Amino acid sequence: MSTGTLFDKVWDRHTVRMLPSGQTQLFIGLHLIHEVTSPQAFSMLRDRQLAVPFPQRTIATVDHIVPTESQARPYADGLAEEMMVAIERNCRQFGIRLHQPGSGKQGVVHIIAPEQGLTQPGMTVACGDSHTATHGAFGAIAFGIGTSQVRDVLATQTLSLTRLKVRKVQVDGVLRPGVYAKDVILSILRKLTAKGGVGYAYEFAGSTFSAMSMEERMTVCNMAIEGGARCGYINPDETTFAYLKGREHAPAGAAWDKAVAWWRSIASDANAVFDDVVTFDAATFEPTVTWGISPDHGIGVGETIPAKASFALDEQANIEEAYQYMDLKAGQAIKGLKIDVAFIGSCTNGRISDLREAARVIAAHGGQVAAHVKAFIVPGSEAVKVVAESEGLDKVFTAHGFEWRQAGCSMCLAMNPDKLTGAQISASSSNRNFKGRQGSPTGRTLLMSPAMVAMAALEGRIADVRDVLKK
Ligand code: SF4
Repeated sequence: MSTGTLFDKVWDRHTVRMLPSGQTQLFIGLHLIHEVTSPQAFSMLRDRQLAVPFPQRTIATVDHIVPTESQARPYADGLAEEMMVAIERNCRQFGIRLHQPGSGKQGVVHIIAPEQGLTQPGMTVACGDSHTATHGAFGAIAFGIGTSQVRDVLATQTLSLTRLKVRKVQVDGVLRPGVYAKDVILSILRKLTAKGGVGYAYEFAGSTFSAMSMEERMTVCNMAIEGGARCGYINPDETTFAYLKGREHAPAGAAWDKAVAWWRSIASDANAVFDDVVTFDAATFEPTVTWGISPDHGIGVGETIPAKASFALDEQANIEEAYQYMDLKAGQAIKGLKIDVAFIGSCTNGRISDLREAARVIAAHGGQVAAHVKAFIVPGSEAVKVVAESEGLDKVFTAHGFEWRQAGCSMCLAMNPDKLTGAQISASSSNRNFKGRQGSPTGRTLLMSPAMVAMAALEGRIADVRDVLKK
């Protein structure tokens, strides 16, 4: 009887050979590229006169630098325009499909691949972006890679990787109203820390994840990397199959039945052996807000900024740095902290269910975006935008003072005109609160669920979304 984890099964089935270094040469089933980390990789191919042997296994989109207001070309930012021209030329030359703005298929790389049915269980996925772990929601093992590895995948369709240990992150129980997938992962990070997953793949297991939609699962897996894990995944189940059925690149007809049988077989066995197991009770999770400069600096919205002494000794210098940078003090309440900017979007929380929930909170609140706040909502893809508009969500947003934008990464990384200025404080549904992450070297980011961002925008300060949901 098999006693493997999904990670082991997928890894073994994709192993090309063991390398003298002790690493594994792993075949990559799906390679996703975008305009920022691919130009140099293509230049390296040209320098070495290498071809792309499996161009059909690479899909390109543009997301990081794409403006979310006017997308008229040429872009005002010369460097952004150069990147666009480069990816167009590279995809043409190497025979790679590129989803451009206006195609109906463009969007943030980790949003378009699942929505087109490209990401499937049992796959190995790689992309030159840290948040590639998102695809693990489907029971794929998915790695964020650097530019030289993008070159390697383009040239060989393989990567040299060190095998990971597997930690089972077991969460059971029902989430309370106002607590979302984002709060689940922020709570897990808080406990396991930003470095706790180094050397591991995280398997998210338990009744809480089984009850989640695929979009919620993507939010969780997206941030596995923020806990130091190289990838995170959830075993495929009926929810996974139902999501995939009928999507453009999903198998159809007899191939569908065969695929589902294979997908079931790669799930972790009931008696799979893990290198580590940690457990959580979902009923203990609160709407969570980060206060510091690392995604594991989260607290419940009703809590106060933690004392330095409550952290491990080797963390305390970083905590001091966080107090300084954020201009916050231990013991201070996070609730009531004034914000300047509210951003809903990104590959963590820019999907249709995120926008629906934000709209529900806005409607329940009934107010307008606070006068001192700039609030904007950026759909994760053109497809998300079309659905949101067909449901009238855009009208809800704009009627309450939010800006409604075009698809892209926007202020998640601010490699486009959407940036913080000065020491502005942003309530953000994205995934990283590192120093300067949202475009200003002194800008401050507070991570939270889209519902909590919507609430903060309307109140002008950090507030508890449960206050409107229970009305
Ligand atoms: S939304 Fe943010 S994390 Fe996601 S792909 Fe874009 S820049 Fe990377």
